[in-house]
Amino acid sequence: MTTPAEHELRRAVDLIASSKYFVAFTGAGISTPSGIPDFRSAGTGLWQRDDPMKVASATAFRQSPRNFYNWLRPLLRVSYSAHANDAHLALATLEKAGKLQAVITQNIDELHQKAGSVNVVELHGSIHRFYCPANKEHGVDFAAVVTSILSGEIPLCATCGTVLRPDITLYEEELAADDWLKAENEIALADLLLVAGSSLEVTPAALLPFKACRNGCKIILVNHSATSIDPYAELVMRSDVAECIPAMVALLNQRCG
Ligand SMILES: [Zn+2]
Repeated sequence: MTTPAEHELRRAVDLIASSKYFVAFTGAGISTPSGIPDFRSAGTGLWQRDDPMKVASATAFRQSPRNFYNWLRPLLRVSYSAHANDAHLALATLEKAGKLQAVITQNIDELHQKAGSVNVVELHGSIHRFYCPANKEHGVDFAAVVTSILSGEIPLCATCGTVLRPDITLYEEELAADDWLKAENEIALADLLLVAGSSLEVTPAALLPFKACRNGCKIILVNHSATSIDPYAELVMRSDVAECIPAMVALLNQRCG
Protein backbone atom coordinates (compact mmCIF):
# COMPACT_ATOMS: atom_id res chain seq x y z
CA MET A 1 0.00 0.00 0.00
CA THR A 2 1.29 3.43 -0.86
CA THR A 3 0.31 6.52 1.06
CA PRO A 4 -0.66 9.41 -1.20
CA ALA A 5 1.91 12.22 -1.49
CA GLU A 6 0.95 15.58 -0.02
CA HIS A 7 1.42 17.46 -3.31
CA GLU A 8 -0.85 14.96 -5.10
CA LEU A 9 -3.58 15.43 -2.51
CA ARG A 10 -3.30 19.23 -2.82
CA ARG A 11 -3.56 18.98 -6.62
CA ALA A 12 -6.64 16.71 -6.31
CA VAL A 13 -8.29 19.17 -3.94
CA ASP A 14 -7.56 22.07 -6.33
CA LEU A 15 -9.24 20.13 -9.12
CA ILE A 16 -12.29 19.22 -7.00
CA ALA A 17 -12.67 22.75 -5.62
CA SER A 18 -12.68 24.26 -9.10
CA SER A 19 -14.94 21.63 -10.70
CA LYS A 20 -18.56 22.35 -11.60
CA TYR A 21 -19.82 18.78 -12.00
CA PHE A 22 -17.74 16.13 -10.26
CA VAL A 23 -18.45 12.43 -10.81
CA ALA A 24 -16.76 9.29 -9.46
CA PHE A 25 -16.26 6.07 -11.43
CA THR A 26 -15.42 3.10 -9.22
CA GLY A 27 -14.29 -0.49 -9.72
CA ALA A 28 -13.45 -3.57 -7.69
CA GLY A 29 -10.47 -1.87 -6.02
CA ILE A 30 -12.74 0.30 -3.89
CA SER A 31 -14.41 -2.80 -2.41
CA THR A 32 -11.34 -4.96 -1.77
CA PRO A 33 -10.62 -3.05 1.51
CA SER A 34 -14.14 -4.17 2.56
CA GLY A 35 -13.11 -7.80 2.05
CA ILE A 36 -14.65 -8.34 -1.37
CA PRO A 37 -12.04 -9.90 -3.66
CA ASP A 38 -11.86 -8.86 -7.28
CA PHE A 39 -13.11 -12.01 -8.92
CA ARG A 40 -11.73 -10.94 -12.27
CA SER A 41 -8.15 -10.80 -11.03
CA ALA A 42 -6.29 -14.00 -11.72
CA GLY A 43 -5.56 -16.18 -8.74
CA THR A 44 -7.45 -14.16 -6.13
CA GLY A 45 -8.98 -16.07 -3.26
CA LEU A 46 -12.31 -17.72 -3.59
CA TRP A 47 -12.71 -17.75 -7.31
CA GLN A 48 -9.47 -19.18 -8.58
CA ARG A 49 -11.05 -22.60 -9.03
CA ASP A 50 -13.52 -21.45 -11.67
CA ASP A 51 -13.24 -19.28 -14.70
CA PRO A 52 -16.02 -16.68 -14.24
CA MET A 53 -16.39 -16.44 -18.01
CA LYS A 54 -17.51 -20.07 -17.96
CA VAL A 55 -19.64 -20.31 -14.81
CA ALA A 56 -20.98 -16.75 -14.72
CA SER A 57 -22.14 -16.52 -18.31
CA ALA A 58 -25.76 -16.37 -19.42
CA THR A 59 -25.34 -19.78 -21.10
CA ALA A 60 -23.87 -21.34 -17.96
CA PHE A 61 -26.72 -19.96 -15.86
CA ARG A 62 -29.26 -21.63 -18.16
CA GLN A 63 -27.34 -24.89 -18.57
CA SER A 64 -26.05 -25.39 -15.05
CA PRO A 65 -27.71 -23.26 -12.38
CA ARG A 66 -26.00 -25.44 -9.77
CA ASN A 67 -22.49 -24.51 -10.95
CA PHE A 68 -23.61 -20.93 -11.30
CA TYR A 69 -24.86 -20.78 -7.71
CA ASN A 70 -21.77 -22.58 -6.45
CA TRP A 71 -19.81 -19.71 -7.98
CA LEU A 72 -22.15 -17.02 -6.69
CA ARG A 73 -22.48 -18.33 -3.11
CA PRO A 74 -19.13 -17.10 -1.68
CA LEU A 75 -19.54 -13.75 -3.44
CA LEU A 76 -23.03 -13.35 -1.98
CA ARG A 77 -21.82 -14.40 1.47
CA VAL A 78 -19.03 -11.79 1.64
CA SER A 79 -21.07 -9.09 -0.06
CA TYR A 80 -24.06 -9.62 2.26
CA SER A 81 -22.01 -9.07 5.40
CA ALA A 82 -19.52 -6.50 4.05
CA HIS A 83 -19.33 -2.96 5.41
CA ALA A 84 -18.62 0.19 3.47
CA ASN A 85 -15.03 1.35 3.98
CA ASP A 86 -13.59 4.85 4.40
CA ALA A 87 -13.41 5.41 0.63
CA HIS A 88 -17.15 4.70 0.18
CA LEU A 89 -17.94 6.86 3.22
CA ALA A 90 -15.79 9.76 1.99
CA LEU A 91 -17.58 9.77 -1.38
CA ALA A 92 -20.96 9.71 0.37
CA THR A 93 -19.88 12.69 2.52
CA LEU A 94 -18.84 14.60 -0.60
CA GLU A 95 -22.22 13.95 -2.22
CA LYS A 96 -24.07 15.17 0.89
CA ALA A 97 -21.96 18.33 0.87
CA GLY A 98 -22.99 18.93 -2.76
CA LYS A 99 -19.46 18.49 -4.07
CA LEU A 100 -19.99 15.17 -5.85
CA GLN A 101 -22.89 14.72 -8.24
CA ALA A 102 -22.88 10.98 -8.96
CA VAL A 103 -21.10 7.67 -8.49
CA ILE A 104 -20.93 5.32 -11.45
CA THR A 105 -19.84 1.90 -10.25
CA GLN A 106 -18.87 -1.39 -11.82
CA ASN A 107 -19.43 -3.11 -8.48
CA ILE A 108 -22.46 -5.19 -7.59
CA ASP A 109 -22.13 -5.02 -3.78
CA GLU A 110 -24.21 -1.88 -2.99
CA LEU A 111 -21.47 -0.63 -0.66
CA HIS A 112 -21.82 2.91 -2.02
CA GLN A 113 -25.49 2.88 -1.01
CA LYS A 114 -24.62 1.34 2.38
CA ALA A 115 -22.24 4.27 2.88
CA GLY A 116 -25.05 6.73 2.14
CA SER A 117 -24.49 7.64 -1.51
CA VAL A 118 -27.79 8.36 -3.24
CA ASN A 119 -27.09 9.03 -6.92
CA VAL A 120 -25.43 5.70 -7.75
CA VAL A 121 -25.45 4.20 -11.24
CA GLU A 122 -24.85 0.44 -11.08
CA LEU A 123 -23.43 -0.51 -14.47
CA HIS A 124 -23.39 -4.23 -13.69
CA GLY A 125 -26.46 -4.44 -11.45
CA SER A 126 -26.59 -5.64 -7.86
CA ILE A 127 -26.13 -8.99 -6.17
CA HIS A 128 -28.64 -7.75 -3.56
CA ARG A 129 -31.58 -8.01 -5.96
CA PHE A 130 -33.03 -11.14 -7.52
CA TYR A 131 -35.80 -11.61 -10.04
CA CYS A 132 -37.74 -14.31 -11.82
CA PRO A 133 -36.51 -14.51 -15.44
CA ALA A 134 -39.90 -15.92 -16.53
CA ASN A 135 -41.76 -12.90 -15.18
CA LYS A 136 -40.13 -9.91 -13.52
CA GLU A 137 -43.45 -9.09 -11.82
CA HIS A 138 -43.24 -12.22 -9.66
CA GLY A 139 -42.43 -11.18 -6.11
CA VAL A 140 -39.07 -12.21 -4.63
CA ASP A 141 -38.29 -12.32 -0.91
CA PHE A 142 -34.60 -11.35 -0.83
CA ALA A 143 -33.93 -12.62 2.70
CA ALA A 144 -35.43 -16.03 1.84
CA VAL A 145 -33.39 -16.18 -1.38
CA VAL A 146 -30.15 -15.45 0.50
CA THR A 147 -30.97 -18.11 3.10
CA SER A 148 -31.65 -20.71 0.44
CA ILE A 149 -28.48 -19.92 -1.56
CA LEU A 150 -26.25 -19.86 1.51
CA SER A 151 -27.64 -23.23 2.60
CA GLY A 152 -26.60 -24.72 -0.74
CA GLU A 153 -29.93 -24.64 -2.57
CA ILE A 154 -30.86 -23.14 -5.92
CA PRO A 155 -33.45 -20.39 -5.34
CA LEU A 156 -36.77 -20.90 -7.12
CA CYS A 157 -39.59 -18.47 -7.85
CA ALA A 158 -42.35 -18.91 -5.25
CA THR A 159 -44.97 -18.20 -7.94
CA CYS A 160 -43.87 -20.31 -10.92
CA GLY A 161 -40.87 -22.40 -9.83
CA THR A 162 -38.39 -20.89 -12.32
CA VAL A 163 -34.77 -20.62 -11.14
CA LEU A 164 -34.31 -17.06 -9.87
CA ARG A 165 -31.32 -15.02 -10.97
CA PRO A 166 -29.40 -12.13 -9.47
CA ASP A 167 -29.93 -8.74 -11.10
CA ILE A 168 -26.34 -8.61 -12.36
CA THR A 169 -24.89 -8.48 -15.84
CA LEU A 170 -23.57 -11.92 -16.75
CA TYR A 171 -20.88 -12.58 -19.31
CA GLU A 172 -22.39 -12.59 -22.83
CA GLU A 173 -25.04 -10.07 -21.74
CA GLU A 174 -25.41 -6.41 -22.64
CA LEU A 175 -25.47 -3.84 -19.84
CA ALA A 176 -28.94 -2.65 -18.83
CA ALA A 177 -29.83 0.14 -21.27
CA ASP A 178 -31.31 2.55 -18.72
CA ASP A 179 -28.24 2.34 -16.44
CA TRP A 180 -25.92 2.82 -19.39
CA LEU A 181 -27.87 5.90 -20.53
CA LYS A 182 -27.83 7.33 -16.99
CA ALA A 183 -24.06 6.78 -16.83
CA GLU A 184 -23.52 8.38 -20.25
CA ASN A 185 -25.58 11.33 -19.15
CA GLU A 186 -23.49 11.85 -15.99
CA ILE A 187 -20.30 11.51 -18.04
CA ALA A 188 -21.54 14.10 -20.54
CA LEU A 189 -22.17 16.56 -17.69
CA ALA A 190 -18.91 15.92 -15.83
CA ASP A 191 -16.00 18.34 -15.95
CA LEU A 192 -14.04 16.27 -13.41
CA LEU A 193 -14.03 12.47 -13.07
CA LEU A 194 -12.41 10.49 -10.27
CA VAL A 195 -11.57 6.98 -11.51
CA ALA A 196 -10.97 4.88 -8.39
CA GLY A 197 -10.02 1.23 -8.06
CA SER A 198 -10.62 0.25 -11.64
CA SER A 199 -8.03 -1.19 -13.96
CA LEU A 200 -10.36 -0.26 -16.86
CA GLU A 201 -10.20 -3.71 -18.40
CA VAL A 202 -13.90 -4.49 -18.53
CA THR A 203 -15.72 -2.99 -21.50
CA PRO A 204 -18.02 -1.30 -22.25
CA ALA A 205 -17.87 0.21 -18.72
CA ALA A 206 -14.21 1.14 -19.18
CA LEU A 207 -15.09 3.24 -22.22
CA LEU A 208 -16.90 5.81 -20.06
CA PRO A 209 -13.77 7.54 -18.69
CA PHE A 210 -12.48 7.79 -22.28
CA LYS A 211 -15.77 9.38 -23.36
CA ALA A 212 -15.34 11.85 -20.50
CA CYS A 213 -11.81 12.59 -21.64
CA ARG A 214 -12.98 13.27 -25.17
CA ASN A 215 -15.52 15.78 -23.80
CA GLY A 216 -12.68 17.70 -22.15
CA CYS A 217 -13.42 16.36 -18.67
CA LYS A 218 -10.38 16.20 -16.39
CA ILE A 219 -9.47 12.84 -14.85
CA ILE A 220 -8.08 12.04 -11.40
CA LEU A 221 -7.01 8.42 -11.27
CA VAL A 222 -6.42 6.39 -8.09
CA ASN A 223 -5.38 2.81 -8.73
CA HIS A 224 -2.67 0.37 -7.67
CA SER A 225 -1.61 -0.50 -11.19
CA ALA A 226 -1.27 1.34 -14.47
CA THR A 227 -4.36 1.77 -16.64
CA SER A 228 -4.84 2.70 -20.26
CA ILE A 229 -6.16 6.16 -19.33
CA ASP A 230 -3.11 7.16 -17.24
CA PRO A 231 -1.46 9.15 -20.08
CA TYR A 232 -4.60 11.30 -20.44
CA ALA A 233 -5.25 11.89 -16.74
CA GLU A 234 -4.66 15.24 -15.06
CA LEU A 235 -3.45 13.43 -11.95
CA VAL A 236 -2.46 9.78 -11.39
CA MET A 237 -2.17 8.49 -7.82
CA ARG A 238 -0.74 5.03 -7.21
CA SER A 239 -2.29 4.79 -3.77
CA ASP A 240 -4.66 2.76 -1.70
CA VAL A 241 -8.17 4.11 -2.39
CA ALA A 242 -9.26 3.64 1.26
CA GLU A 243 -6.43 5.96 2.33
CA CYS A 244 -6.30 8.32 -0.59
CA ILE A 245 -9.97 9.29 -1.01
CA PRO A 246 -10.62 10.03 2.71
CA ALA A 247 -7.37 12.04 2.84
CA MET A 248 -8.49 14.01 -0.21
CA VAL A 249 -11.89 14.75 1.32
CA ALA A 250 -10.39 15.71 4.69
CA LEU A 251 -8.05 18.19 2.99
CA LEU A 252 -10.92 19.59 0.93
CA ASN A 253 -13.04 20.09 4.07
CA GLN A 254 -10.12 21.75 5.81
CA ARG A 255 -9.73 24.18 2.95
CA CYS A 256 -13.47 24.91 2.71
CA GLY A 257 -13.61 25.43 6.46
ZN1 LIG B 1 -41.75 -16.73 -11.56
